[in-house]
Amino acid sequence: MRYRADLHVHTVLSPCAGVEMIPPVIVEKALECGINLIAITDHNSVENAGAVIQAARGRNLMVLPGMELQTREEVHILCLFDTLEQSALWQATVNQHYPPLENDPEHIGEQYIVDPTGDFLRHEKRMLIASTDLTLEEAVARVNALGGLVIPAHIDRRAYGLIPVLGLVPPLFDALELSAHITPIEARIRYPQIGDIPLIQNGDVHHPDDFLGATIFEMEAPTVREIRQALKGENRRSFSIEAR
Ligand SMILES: [Zn+2]
Ligand SMILES: [Zn+2]
Repeated sequence: MRYRADLHVHTVLSPCAGVEMIPPVIVEKALECGINLIAITDHNSVENAGAVIQAARGRNLMVLPGMELQTREEVHILCLFDTLEQSALWQATVNQHYPPLENDPEHIGEQYIVDPTGDFLRHEKRMLIASTDLTLEEAVARVNALGGLVIPAHIDRRAYGLIPVLGLVPPLFDALELSAHITPIEARIRYPQIGDIPLIQNGDVHHPDDFLGATIFEMEAPTVREIRQALKGENRRSFSIEAR
């Protein structure tokens, strides 16, 4: 089966995301773009993923729970899971490695936890845009142990992107994510560190018009295991990035 994916979507829980990014809007906009697989990846929190999963029930859209973690090195990585149970266990780990900083809504932005209709439930009081003290290597090991998948986010971006921050690509990843501002060919020329690691592209969706839907997976089911096989080209699974 063919999945048009955007695996990097923020909600109103991320202080930098638009207030329109509530579950029903995310579902409608994704469907409008022909996307049938998304991952909810708020900064250092999985709290709104369940609401989007519920909002997508009965629609032709699969929603994976995830998180965009900020590691100790100040690198952003997408942590993707199959179930809310896995993502809750990951959240518990992250909470143990998170600084006790309070959000400043006026300067940083509001962080809303909402229900599936988008109605306000509560504010997240912790400031969600800080670094955990988990290293990249620790984070990958722990996410993998929970059955999840780590893909470094926007590796070409100066702020929190793997290559500008570290200068190298540690041999830890099944794939790397490009921002929407560079093509895979340009990226491999500009950053020879990528080598032959598979590249995907997502919208890093902060507003409804940011959906990209450029990564196409050919696989049997929308699961982390199948995505991993598609990235490796195993068992007749595959993926591609659509040229724009
Ligand atoms: Zn990021
Ligand atoms: Zn992001």
